[in-house]
Order: sequence, then C-alpha cells, then structure tokens
Amino acid sequence: MKESKSLCALLAGLLLLGACSPARPQPPAATPQPIIDVAATATPPPAPSATPAPSPTPTPAAPLVALDPGHGGEDLGARHFKRDGNMDIYESEINLQLALRIGDKLEDKGLRVVYTRDGDYYPNRNKVDLNGDGEFGDRDDLIYRNRLVNQAGADLLLSLHENGWEHPDEELVRATGGTTTYYCSSRPFADRSLAFATLVQAQVLATLQRFGLTPIDRGILVAHDNEIDPTSSGTHLVMFGPVDDVIKEASQMPGCLSEPMFMTCDAEAELMQRDDFMDALADGYVNAIVAYFQEQGR
Ligand SMILES: [Zn+2]
Repeated sequence: MKESKSLCALLAGLLLLGACSPARPQPPAATPQPIIDVAATATPPPAPSATPAPSPTPTPAAPLVALDPGHGGEDLGARHFKRDGNMDIYESEINLQLALRIGDKLEDKGLRVVYTRDGDYYPNRNKVDLNGDGEFGDRDDLIYRNRLVNQAGADLLLSLHENGWEHPDEELVRATGGTTTYYCSSRPFADRSLAFATLVQAQVLATLQRFGLTPIDRGILVAHDNEIDPTSSGTHLVMFGPVDDVIKEASQMPGCLSEPMFMTCDAEAELMQRDDFMDALADGYVNAIVAYFQEQGR
C-alpha cells in the first residue's frame, strides 16, 4: 500500500549503494565552456596551495525522526471491547495508523522519517533471541527496534502506544482514560528527552480538549519507575534505557514514549476511530517534533 519506507529496506538500499554505486556521470554542459587563456592574464595564476580549498559549506541534513508504532503482528497490544463482548479496535493498529499519518506529515515538511515497522508485523520477524535469555520475547523485539533506529542514526525517537487497564469493575475501566508521556531520566540527553516529552504531552492534551474531552493529564513519567503508574506494565519502555543487566541495548538519541489515550476507555476508543481526530492528533505530534527541533536550533 505504502511506498516502501521500511528501515530494513532503507538500510539494505544504502548498503547496496555503498557497495556498487558507480561514479555519478557528469551531465553534458549546456553551453561550451570558455577557454581561459592563461598567457593573456596580467597576473600569473596562483601557485598551488598546500592547503586544499575549503569545500562548500554542507547543507545540514534534515532531521531524521524515528517513529516506532508499538506492538504488531501477533502482538495486538491493548484492546477495546464493545459491550457485546466483541473486540472493535486494538492498539497495534492504532499505533501504526498514527505513525504513518505523522510520518507523511513530517515528510511533507521536509523532515526525514524512519519506521521501526510500517505494516502489521513484528520487526524482529525471525524471532531472534537478542538478549540471550534463551527464548524470544517482547524485549528481543524491542532491542531489534533499537538497533534499527540506532543504525539509521535517527535524531529523535517517538514511540507510540496506547494505555490499557484491567480491573474487575468494568464500568470503571470503561470510564478511565488519560494521557501519559514517558522518558528516561538516566541518559546523557535526558534534558532533551524531557523537553520533547513536555511538548508531546501538551500537544496531545490540547488535541483531546479540542475534540470535547476533558483530558486527564497523567503527567510526564520517568521510564522504569512503574510504581508511579501501576496501570502500565512498563515492558515496552525498554527501548529508552538505561542499559543494565536486563536492558542490554538502548536507543542512542533523545526521545519519548507517548500513550495519548486508553484503549480500554470507551470515550477515548471512540475518538481513535474518527478520521478527523486521528489527523488532528498526528498534527499535534508533528507540532511537537517541529518545535523540538526549533528549540534545538535545527
Ligand atoms: Zn503498548
């Protein structure tokens, strides 16, 4: 459906280019080049200098944003069930649709985008045990995602999830929503991650408000401090580090994990199914990303 923007394809393409790309042929000159008559010039040409001429100032590459739609494939993430018991929407698809919308909008603005996945699959498709615990699990997929964004050299990472809650009181679950953004405070670039997380949280809350919800601000939380928010298992915060015995590889750029809404909340799940809302929410993330790079002077 979408033009292939998968990181795997991108990296493979780069590898191929580096390996076998011939020298780029020069276009033919449109007009004959004037012949410079050295003998006729009043001053002799300058002697060759020991120092090479300065190369033209390189145009700074547009920022590269890594978008990570959480879950995928068999892993649906959190789910919303209608009152008749049938599931209507699930997290992995919402995360993906949001990421693709954000990516398209960023590219329209001239930013570069890489995805950890751009379809309904687990990025670590071959189920390789990357953390060496003898089995394949969530963490192996998250480490794989980190390798993708690190190898791409992304400047910023936005991981997209939705929250979910389990509780015996079904009515309470259906009524419980809210917005949370996570970042890791134990990284060298924690200040930039916090700056980005702050922009994201504000944009999401403002968007929810515009669509008639009274948003519940659950705050900007520090990844791994799961005691703060017992509604989150915290497993998918692995991407942000810090590296320790359990989290053996972390993403190497500022970033945050956004959980704009609860899949299990009726009002929020209803919004997620509205095209105009999803488009506005994607705009909110784009605003946060653009503001972040402006703050960083990019
Ligand atoms: Zn999730």
